[in-house]
Amino acid sequence: MTTEFKLARPRAMTCPDCGGALSQSQAGQLTRFTCHIGHAYTAEVMLAAQFVVMEQFIETALRALNERAALCHFMGQKADDKQQCRWLAAHDEALSRTAVLKQLLESEWLQPSAQACEADS
Ligand SMILES: [Zn+2]
Repeated sequence: MTTEFKLARPRAMTCPDCGGALSQSQAGQLTRFTCHIGHAYTAEVMLAAQFVVMEQFIETALRALNERAALCHFMGQKADDKQQCRWLAAHDEALSRTAVLKQLLESEWLQPSAQACEADS
């Protein structure tokens, strides 16, 4: 069974440091995000911190997928002839799916800032 994910706009963002819900406030041009234990970020600092957290989650997923591949390979080596092909197919599937995560981690990402776009200046 596969799960179909439907993305909606988040109702709240979470703190990059503790995972708590963030409240948003405005002071003139400055947008500030504050969690309920006191971590506070400007929008630009929040953007950078959120990016680091996102990369860590993708790296965690990559590690888990690589471990799945290794475990399936290990089990395939121990399995009888009837079952070995299933373990090795699962190993191959896990390894091939690491490519998606590696591509996310190894590619360049846009790093927007409050500076105007070149076309707007
Ligand atoms: Zn926090």
